This record gives sequence, C-alpha cells and structure tokens, in this order.
Amino acid sequence: MEIYNPANDRHLITLEEDTKESIQKKFDRAKAALTSWSQTPIETRIEAIQKFKALVEQEKPTLAEILTNETGKPITQSKNELNGLIGRIDFFLNEAANVLKEEVVSEKGATIEEKITKEPLGVIANISAWNYPYFVGSNVFIPALLTGNTVLYKPSEYATCTGTAINQLLHDAGIPEDVFVMVRGKGNVGEEILKLPVDGIFFTGSYATGQKINTQVASRLIKVQLELGGKDPVYVCEDVDIKKAAASLADGAFYNNGQSCCSVERIYVHEKIFDGFLEAFTNEVKNFVIGDPIRENTYIGPLTRAQQIEVLEKQVKDATDKGAKVLLGGKKIPRGGNYFEPTVLTDVNHEMLVMKEESFGPIIGIQKVSGDEEAIQLMNDTEYGLTAGVYTQDEKRAESILKEVNAGTVYWNCCDRVSPALPWAGRGHSGMGCTLSHYGIETFLRLKAWHGKKV
Ligand code: NAD
Repeated sequence: MEIYNPANDRHLITLEEDTKESIQKKFDRAKAALTSWSQTPIETRIEAIQKFKALVEQEKPTLAEILTNETGKPITQSKNELNGLIGRIDFFLNEAANVLKEEVVSEKGATIEEKITKEPLGVIANISAWNYPYFVGSNVFIPALLTGNTVLYKPSEYATCTGTAINQLLHDAGIPEDVFVMVRGKGNVGEEILKLPVDGIFFTGSYATGQKINTQVASRLIKVQLELGGKDPVYVCEDVDIKKAAASLADGAFYNNGQSCCSVERIYVHEKIFDGFLEAFTNEVKNFVIGDPIRENTYIGPLTRAQQIEVLEKQVKDATDKGAKVLLGGKKIPRGGNYFEPTVLTDVNHEMLVMKEESFGPIIGIQKVSGDEEAIQLMNDTEYGLTAGVYTQDEKRAESILKEVNAGTVYWNCCDRVSPALPWAGRGHSGMGCTLSHYGIETFLRLKAWHGKKV
C-alpha cells in the first residue's frame, strides 16, 4: 500500500497489505485468545484502557500530526478529535462495569430465581472509515474490549498510519497482541475478513459498502451493525438571530471539509429571512482560511480522497444545469493536493443530486421554504436518516418539528455534534444498530437467561 499526503501528493510510506493467509492466522489468534480475555476481570480490562487513554494524552502532538499528514485534516481539528477521544474513553470506562452486571429479575423469596448474565459476542470484525478514525474506531473497539470480546480491526486504507498507531498504543497499554489484532489493507482485505467465522461485524463507511456487506453475510445470522452516510438537513426558522445561526451552520457544513457523516448537507431557510441568511452565511464561508493543514490557522485543507472531487464537480454541474446559482466556489483549486473551493449553491431543489445524494465535501445547497410544513416534507425526502436540526427560539416549535423528522439524532440550535452518552443510531440508508451510550456497550454482549431452583 502506498500512502500519500493529500495536501501535496507527496509519498509518505509503503506498507505491506495482509493476505488471505495472514488474515486467517490473525483470526485464529483472536479466536484462541477469546476464552482467556473474556475471563480476565473487568478491573484488569479497565486498567489497560485507562493506560491507553494516558498514552493517547501523552502522544497527542505526534498522533495529531500523523492524522493530518495522511488525511489532510487541519491540525487543530486533529487535536480536537484526540481530545474528543479522551472524553469517549472516559464515558466507556465509567459505564462498562455497570452494563456487565448480572441482573436478578425475580422477586425475593420466589421458588425459582431468575437472572440475566451477559457474555461477549466473541471475535468481532471492526471495519472502519477514515474521516474520524479515532472516533469511529473507538466507538467499537473500546466497548468491545471492555466487554471481553477480541477484535480484528481494519482501519481504512486512508487512515492506516493512524490505525497502526492505535494498534501499537493498545498493545503498549497492556491489551494482549492476540486480543486486538490489526489487519491492514483496502476493501478486498475487508472482504476477506467477512469470509471468516467472526461473531459480529461492526462497520463504519458508505451506504454502498454497508449494503454489500449486509447482503454478503445475511445467511450467517451474526450480528451486523452498520454506521453509514447521511444527507443531514437543517431548517432555519424566521425567528433566529441570523448571524449566529449562519456562523453555527457554516461550521456544521464545512468543519473537516464537510467529510463528516453528520456534516450539515442541506439547509432550508424560511422565506422571511432567506436573503439575509444567504448573505450572513456566505460572509462566514468567505472568511475560512484555506491552506496547508499542518498550519494552526488552517480551517479548510484538502479532501482526503482525490476521487471525491469528481463527485463534487458532478453535483455542481448537475445543479447548475438544472438552474442552481453558485454563490461561492464550485471548482477544484489549482494547486497540488486535493483542494476544492468551499461551495455555496442556491436556487436548488430536490431534482438535484446535491440535495439528494451524500456530498461528503465542502459544498452546501440552501433552499427557500414557505414554512414548517414544507420544511418537514423536504427534510424527510431522503433515503438517509442520520441527523436533522432546527434553529428557532421556540423550543415547543422545535420539538414538534423534530418529532416529525425521521432521523436517529435531532438537534435544536446546534448541529454536527456527537455525545458519548447518547446513542448514535442511523435509520434507513444511514445504517442499523447503534454505538455510544449504554446501548452501544450492550450491543457487544449476548444475554443469558438463568432459571434456578434450590431443591
Ligand atoms: P467505504 O465504504 O469506502 O470504506 C469503509 C471501510 O470499508 C474501509 O475500511 C474499506 O477498506 C472497507 N471496505 C471497502 N469495501 C469493502 C468490502 N467490499 N468489504 C469489506 N470492507 C470493505 O467508506 P469510507 O470512504 O471509508 O467512509 C466514508 C463514508 O463513511 C461516508 O459515507 C460517511 O458518511 C460514512 N461514515 C459514517 C459514520 C457514522 O457514524 N454513521 C461515521 C463516519 C463515516
């Protein structure tokens, strides 16, 4: 595997991909390690993850640089991701022992005692995306390890150096090498993992790959959890502070260059404030600093994958052919690396790809609406169901709109946000199952029902 820096196309490193044979050996090791790891006391498992957290804190500057060099994520945003990782680890450390506790459910003195105990799924496959490799990886491998599973971890081919660093730090922290096993490679290596008798598949990536995986393993009746893309809408009501809402939404749309599953991808604005909002929004976007992601003041760096530029160009052409106006940007930036201008489109509608298909880049369509009813109808006009938001001063109005919206996460006066305490559970083409919250720990466990009678 050849790894390049997307900011300047420079070659970073050559790494060896796993083969069918080496993946089989890795699986065998993870399988053999399962009994001893699942019987390791939870306190010992917690101690290792605490150590991992301390190592991440200690190595933060180096880890941030590795992430920025291979994905093009601006360095301040790489550091933010690492800070966020530490918060997530804390959540899992505080919750895991509680979730693992056995539950006695029968009344005291009943003739038959009934209780529920929890066991790990077994060997799980953790196939991961590149856009937030620390977040999407840790949502799976931290609770999986804490609950006694062994893990075959395949980072994305676009975040392999970060995956390698995670692997090393977990082992340095005391997670045995056969308990957390990294597999290195592209999609074909992911496919090989799916052929092995793993006990659960936890995937983060695109709808297209998620659907393929689900189809491939359906007959095996194992747990499959999919965290996929989004076409995340926000509705801006007429009662907002326009400047504040515009600033918050410009950040929600363009942070990490729009390469977040929960990036704001469509904005609907009440007709009464439409023109004022457009002006405030474009002013925000004009001020973004575009440049070398290693510099502290850069807000927009390159896209991670060169091929995404074609997706964005196609969306701009399709939209303008159908009558959209380009208020800002619209083109690749002619410098080395995968740079694309932050792009704002208006006069858009749902005939256009930009309002229907995931863009996953620095582009946003802003559409005028007549009121709440039209906004709800348009927000729900999608196959995806990851997040949706409303900006208004009226809490009751926000609540009644968000109840009507078919999404696993809803936001009032905020966006592009994930909390470890809340479930992350996309609907429709955004996936199935959930990570984070106590439900995202339970998902790595199987329940055992006990009926016991003293004779
Ligand atoms: P991708 O689907 O191209 O790849 C994801 C992973 O799957 C990679 O590790 C890849 O090597 C592997 N893979 C590819 N083909 C495979 C196959 N046939 N079998 C097994 N594994 C295979 O996605 P990506 O480009 O890495 O990530 C971007 C997508 O991820 C976007 O759609 C984004 O919205 C989504 N995402 C979702 C969430 C969420 O929480 N819902 C979080 C982050 C990213």
